[in-house]
Amino acid sequence: MPEYISNQPLAGVIIPAGGIGSRIGHPQPKQFLPLAGLPIIVRTCRAFLELDAICWVVVAAPIDHYQATIDLLYLHLHRQETDRLLFTPGGATRQDSVLAGLNRLPANISLVLVHDAARPLVDRATILRCLEGVVQYGAVIAAVPVQDTLKLVSRVAVIEKTVDRSDLWQAQTPQGARRELLERAFISAARQQFVGTDEASLLEAAGIPVRIVEGSARNLKITRPADLQVAAALLQEEPLMKIGHGFDAHRLVEGRKLILGGVTIPYELGLDGHSDADVVAHALIDALLGALGAGDIGRHFPDTDPQYRGIDSLLLLAQVQQLAEAQQYQLGNADLTIVCQRPRLAPYLSEMQANLSRCCRVSPSAINIKATTTEKMGYTGRGEGIAAHAVVLLRSEYGSK
Ligand code: MG
Repeated sequence: MPEYISNQPLAGVIIPAGGIGSRIGHPQPKQFLPLAGLPIIVRTCRAFLELDAICWVVVAAPIDHYQATIDLLYLHLHRQETDRLLFTPGGATRQDSVLAGLNRLPANISLVLVHDAARPLVDRATILRCLEGVVQYGAVIAAVPVQDTLKLVSRVAVIEKTVDRSDLWQAQTPQGARRELLERAFISAARQQFVGTDEASLLEAAGIPVRIVEGSARNLKITRPADLQVAAALLQEEPLMKIGHGFDAHRLVEGRKLILGGVTIPYELGLDGHSDADVVAHALIDALLGALGAGDIGRHFPDTDPQYRGIDSLLLLAQVQQLAEAQQYQLGNADLTIVCQRPRLAPYLSEMQANLSRCCRVSPSAINIKATTTEKMGYTGRGEGIAAHAVVLLRSEYGSK
C-alpha cells in the first residue's frame, strides 16, 4: 500500500506515554530523556508523522506532565508535524491510556495503530507493514522471532526444561487493528474486567485473531540506562544519506517491444536484452544498488539465469527497493536522463514516473525523468540504441533528522 494512494482507509496512531520509567533511574519520565540530541518522545512521534499515510497521532500524556509533554513536542517538531498531533490525559494503566487515545481519535479514522513511546527507533518499513497488515488481516502485531535459548526455571532457580522456541515470537509495537475491532476488544475487556499487557492480548481475549507482521531487531524498547546507549549507537551507526549513480544502454533491434520505465512505447524497434531490456529501470536499479554499496544489477539478477528471461524490470526494481528498506534506507529523490534520438518520449514520461515511484514507494514528485537526444551524434544519435543515466539519494530511517 504505497502511502500516496488516496483511497486507503484513514489511519491514526495512539502513543500511550504514561510510563514514569522507574527502571531508568531518572526523576523525569523516560520519554523526555534525550537520545542523540532529541527527546525520545519527539523521535517516536516523528517516526509516524513523517508518513503521509498517518492522519493523526494522539499522545496520551501522564497527567502530572501533561503540559510539559505538549510543550516539548511543540518545541522540537515542525508546524506540519504538530498540525497532526492530538493530546489526551493518560490513565492509570496503559490500557486506560490507549482507551483515552482511542476516544480522542476523530470519527473518520478507521485504522488504528498503538505504539510504545519508548520505541523511538521504529522504522518506516515496519510501520507500513503494520498498516498493510491491518488492511489485509484486521489486527496485527509487529514481532521478531525469539533468538535466545529459553529455559523454564523453577522457584529455586533450577532449570526444569529448555523451551522449544520455534513457535515463540517477541512482541513489539506497533500493534494495530481496524477501529471497530479494537473498540470491540475494549468493550469486552471492560465487561470481563480483563487487564491485558498490550492491545494484542485484549484482541485475543475478545476472540479476534491477531496476525504477526515482521518487526525489526532495531525497534528496541528503552527501559534501562544501557538501552539508551545502544539506541544512540544505532542512530550513529549509519550515514544519514547515500548517493548512487547508474548507467545502462541497450541496442535497438527488430522484433522486440520498446519498454521504458515500465511503459510500452509504440515504435518499429525495441531494446534487445535478456530481460525486458528496460534501460530506465536498469539505470535506476544500478543507482540504488550503488548507493547501498551492493554491487550492480548483473550481480543480483544475472543474465545467465533463466528466471530473469523476459522479466518485467519493474519487478526487479521492487526487489531492490525491498533491499534498501531492509537496510533501513528510503529513496529521497531520483533524477533520470534518457538518451534517445527516436521515438519522441515526452508523452510517456509521466506514466514512467508513476511506475517508478510506485515501485520505490515514494510520491511521484520524488522522481524526475528527462529525455534528451544527442543531436544525431554517436550510437544513440544514429538510433542504434537507447541509454539512461540515474542519480539517487537514499535517506537513512535513523539519523538525527
Ligand atoms: Mg540493462
